Amino acid sequence: MIARLFNFHGGIKPDSHKNESSSLPIANAPLPPRLTIPLRQSVRSAARCLVAPGQRVLKGERIGAGEGPLGTDVHASTSGTVVGLAPCAMAHASGLDTLAVVIEPDGKDEWIERRAFDHRAVPRDAALRYLSTCGIVGMGGAGFPTHIKLGNGRGIETLIINGAECEPWITCDDRLMREGAAQVLSGAAILHELIGARRTLVGIEDNKREAIAAMREAAAHLTAPVEIVAIPTRYPAGGEKQLIRVLTGIEIAHGKLGTEFGVQCFNVGTAHAVHRAIHYGEPLVSRVVTLTGNVSHPGNYEVALGTPVETLLALAGPKPDTDRYLMGGPMMGITIADLSVPIGKTSNCIIAASPALFPPPPPELPCIRCGACARACPADLQPFELYWFSRAKNVGKAQEYHLFDCIECGSCAFVCPSHIPLVDYFRFSKSEIWARERELKASDQARERFEFRNYRQEREKEEKAAKLAAKAAETRAKLSGSAAATDTAAADDPKKALIAAALARAKQQAATAESGTAAASHANGPGAPDSTNRREQPHPHDSDATS
Ligand code: SF4
Ligand code: SF4
Repeated sequence: MIARLFNFHGGIKPDSHKNESSSLPIANAPLPPRLTIPLRQSVRSAARCLVAPGQRVLKGERIGAGEGPLGTDVHASTSGTVVGLAPCAMAHASGLDTLAVVIEPDGKDEWIERRAFDHRAVPRDAALRYLSTCGIVGMGGAGFPTHIKLGNGRGIETLIINGAECEPWITCDDRLMREGAAQVLSGAAILHELIGARRTLVGIEDNKREAIAAMREAAAHLTAPVEIVAIPTRYPAGGEKQLIRVLTGIEIAHGKLGTEFGVQCFNVGTAHAVHRAIHYGEPLVSRVVTLTGNVSHPGNYEVALGTPVETLLALAGPKPDTDRYLMGGPMMGITIADLSVPIGKTSNCIIAASPALFPPPPPELPCIRCGACARACPADLQPFELYWFSRAKNVGKAQEYHLFDCIECGSCAFVCPSHIPLVDYFRFSKSEIWARERELKASDQARERFEFRNYRQEREKEEKAAKLAAKAAETRAKLSGSAAATDTAAADDPKKALIAAALARAKQQAATAESGTAAASHANGPGAPDSTNRREQPHPHDSDATS
C-alpha cells in the first residue's frame, strides 16, 4: 500500500459535469452506412494500404501495414466491401488530411479468425510486435504506440494505469472501469509483465466512487501487485507528470520523461485493448466514446473506429441551439470543423456546445501581470512570459522558456482575469516552431540533394574518363600484342613466316587491283558492272587465301 499521496503545483477545479453521461451503461453504437478508416492514425506515422476498392474484408482484417518503428497496423472495424480510398480530415488538432479506406458494411459484422496469443510462450520482442500488429496505441490522448512505450523490459519500477479522467464532461473511462474492471486489470497485468515493473498503481479521481469500488473488487482477485489509489479531484490530475507526482512524489523535470525516473503510464482504455488482443486475438477496432453536452440523450457508446461524428450524433440528439461540436473535453479538446471526421483511437468524447452551456468568452484585455496563470500552471511554467513572447512572435524565446513543456491544459486561461486565450497563443507558437523546423529540414534535404547531384555528375565524368583510358590502353596492348605475336610466329616457324609473307603480298596486290578497278569503274559510269566484289571472293584453290 502506498504510504501517502503528493501534491502537484497549480491546477484548478472546474465544474465536472460527469453525471450527465455517466449514469447509463455503455451501449453499442450502430454501424454507419460507411466507415472511413484513416491509414494515418497519429501524426507520427501512416500505414501502407493493403486493400483495393471492390475487395471484401472481415472485421479485424489488416487493411494497413504500419511503417517505421512508430507504425502500427490498421484494421477493418467491421466486415464489408472496400468502396474507395479517399483523403479525409484526421480527428487531430493538426487538421492533417490523410488517406482513408472507405468500407461499406455488409451488416454481418463477421470477424477474422481470432486466437488468443500466449505472450509468455514467445520472446518479449515477439509479444511487442504482436501488439503493434493489433494496432494498440495509447487511448488517453497522444495515441503513442504501446509497443514503443513498453521499452526494453528494464528500468521501469512503477507502472501507472491512468484512470483519473480529469477533464470535465468525459466519462468513457469511468464507465469502462465500472463495467470492465476485470478486463482492465487483466490488461494491466500483461503490461506489468511486459514492462518488467515491480508494482502497478491505478490512479482514479475520487469523484468516481463506483469505478474505484469496481476496480478494488476486481483487484482483490489478482495475484499481481496492483493497487487502486483514489486521488483528489483536481484538474489536470490525469496529466502524465501530474499523476506520477501525486502517486509517487517524483517531480519530472522540464524536458524529461517519466521513464527516466523509472515510471511509465498507460490509459485504462489501452490496458483494456491489450487484454482483448492477448486473450481474444482482437485487434483494436472500436472504443468507448462519450456523447454529451447540449444533447437530449447523453451517454457512452462502443463505437466502431471510422464512424463519422455526424452519424454518432444522431444517437445523442443535439438540441436546436447547438452551435458547435468539440472532440475531447472543453479544456483540451478541439472544435470540429467538419462533422464527417471519423472516430479514431484517441477520440474519447464529443460535446455539443451551445451559447448557454459554453458562453463566448468576454473580450480579451491587456495582461495585468497578476501572476494567476503561473499559480495555476501544473507544468510550473510562467504562462504570461510565454504569452508575451508568443504575441511578439519571439518563438525562440518562448521555446527557451519551456514552451514545449506546456501540456495545453488550459488552466492558465481558465483563471486569467483578462480573458486572454493563452493556449491559442501557445499553440500558435508551437506550430510556428514546427513549421520552421519543417522548412529547415526541407532546405537541408534540398541542399543534400544538390550536393549529391554534383557529386554524382563528377563521379560519372571520372568513370567515363577512366573507361576511355582503359579502352585505349587495351587497344594499344592488342595492337602491340598482335605485332609481337606475328613476329614471334615468324621467328618460330619458317613455314609460317613464308605464309605470312605470302598473305601480306596478296593483300598488297588486292589493294592495288581494287584501286585500279575503282578508277575503271568510275570511268565506266554509274551503271557499269562492278568487278571489285568478284575479285574479293577468295578462290577455293587459292592456297594463299585459305591457309
Ligand atoms: S493571468 Fe492573465 S492577466 Fe494575469 S498574468 Fe497571467 S496572462 Fe496576465
Ligand atoms: S496551458 Fe500550458 S501554460 Fe497554461 S497552465 Fe496548462 S501547462 Fe501551464
